[in-house]
Amino acid sequence: MANNRVTYRRRNPYNTTSNKTRVVKTPGGQLRALHIKKRGTAPKCGDCGVKLPGIPALRPREYSQISHPKKTVQRAYGGSRCGNCVRDRIVRAFLIEEQKIVKKVLKEQSEGSKKK
Ligand SMILES: [Zn+2]
Repeated sequence: MANNRVTYRRRNPYNTTSNKTRVVKTPGGQLRALHIKKRGTAPKCGDCGVKLPGIPALRPREYSQISHPKKTVQRAYGGSRCGNCVRDRIVRAFLIEEQKIVKKVLKEQSEGSKKK
């Protein structure tokens, strides 16, 4: 147990987010600083903000290095909005279209009664 101090193994001497280390023991019994990569953030639903299930949390460079199917799910708005929000959008659009039809029918009925 001579010297248990560990030093940075890179030129950056500051305790910054990009310079975080973990102390590991080498097979030779030495303690050494292991530089840790920053954690990735998971993509979130643009409407409600939940982390999108099925899509990994990676660093930006790592996203550029994986294929498209790993960054999305097979659904309209997959990889951008969560399933519940997509369902809400579909239901809302459907109800708006239904309301338009109802208005149209009511208008036709009132016009028809005026003529008679
Ligand atoms: Zn959502």
